[in-house]
Amino acid sequence: MPNKDYYEILGIARNATKEEIKSTYRKLALTYHPDRNKSPNAEEKFKEISEAYAILSDDEKRRTYDMYGQAGIGDKYTSEDIFRGVDFEDIFRDMGFGFGSIFDSFYGRRRSDTPQRGYDLQYDLEISLEEASTTLEKELTISRVEECKRCDGSGAKPGSKTKDCPLCHGSGQIRRQQSAGGFFTITQVTTCERCNGRGEIVEVPCEECDGSGQIRRSRKITVNIPRGIDDGSTLRLRGEGDTGPGRIPPGDLYVTVHIRPHAIFERRHENLLCEIPISFTQASLGAKVSAPFLDGTMELKIPPGTKPGTIFKIRGKGMPRINSRSRGDEYVKVNLTVPTELTKRQKELLIELEKERLKDSKS
Ligand SMILES: [Zn+2]
Ligand SMILES: [Zn+2]
Repeated sequence: MPNKDYYEILGIARNATKEEIKSTYRKLALTYHPDRNKSPNAEEKFKEISEAYAILSDDEKRRTYDMYGQAGIGDKYTSEDIFRGVDFEDIFRDMGFGFGSIFDSFYGRRRSDTPQRGYDLQYDLEISLEEASTTLEKELTISRVEECKRCDGSGAKPGSKTKDCPLCHGSGQIRRQQSAGGFFTITQVTTCERCNGRGEIVEVPCEECDGSGQIRRSRKITVNIPRGIDDGSTLRLRGEGDTGPGRIPPGDLYVTVHIRPHAIFERRHENLLCEIPISFTQASLGAKVSAPFLDGTMELKIPPGTKPGTIFKIRGKGMPRINSRSRGDEYVKVNLTVPTELTKRQKELLIELEKERLKDSKS
């Protein structure tokens, strides 16, 4: 797949709002819709802008694209998935165009060369910031559809006979030819609903799976999470999704990692930010204070005359950079605390101090 820049295709900024994306797409679609534009490139161009719109108008697809580029989209979505859920009808209704026919052609033609697979599964995993800073192995429990072991996925009672499916004549697929909107002929290939794509039907069904050849099971899956992973990243575990009917290969399992907010640290990419309180005297005289780190505490030297709000950068104490041995930095902001309850002695000392200060400013 060539690397397409969907923002460039629509001619919009990377931070364009949903409204901007939609109105830009409408304008371009009016120009390139094949019903209106008969130039030879119009159809290709129309598909390109429609694909860009399908990706960028969907929050999750847009996020995947922003993070992993087109490779990420190709990894995660089939051509069919890309257009799924996009309400093109809503856009085209008042323009007086049909869209259904073109939409079908987008994946109708590709459908036959996309190998069929079982369903993909999605798992949302929450981890702590500390966990995100180390290499992590997590065990997930998922519920998925697998091949029935008793009948080896055939759906037939062991020892019983099967015969060719009368509907698809053993191919497992039904082909339909249709003309779409006058400019495409589509061969639509669907899985035979009679035999579920197996090409054969059973005479006596397997008792374990009621003849479906499939069974839902709870499975423990180990997932390796790279250190330094970003919040919202999605990992793909190939072949760990549902097994499809008729022994088609299983889908994939997508694990989206969410990082819990931390009590002390705020994360900005590979850097960590935190705030610590120091007293007026520590700020004026300088002090050694304890500053938090992800894996403990360390001594931080506050120089004399430190102003409130000063930020200290501590190199290499941030989050690990993904696929790297290096780490980001930690930024510690010092806040000045003003005591609200003073002992008699403390009060006397502060009054003394204030007198000194006034004396100083007079001279
Ligand atoms: Zn079975
Ligand atoms: Zn069939």
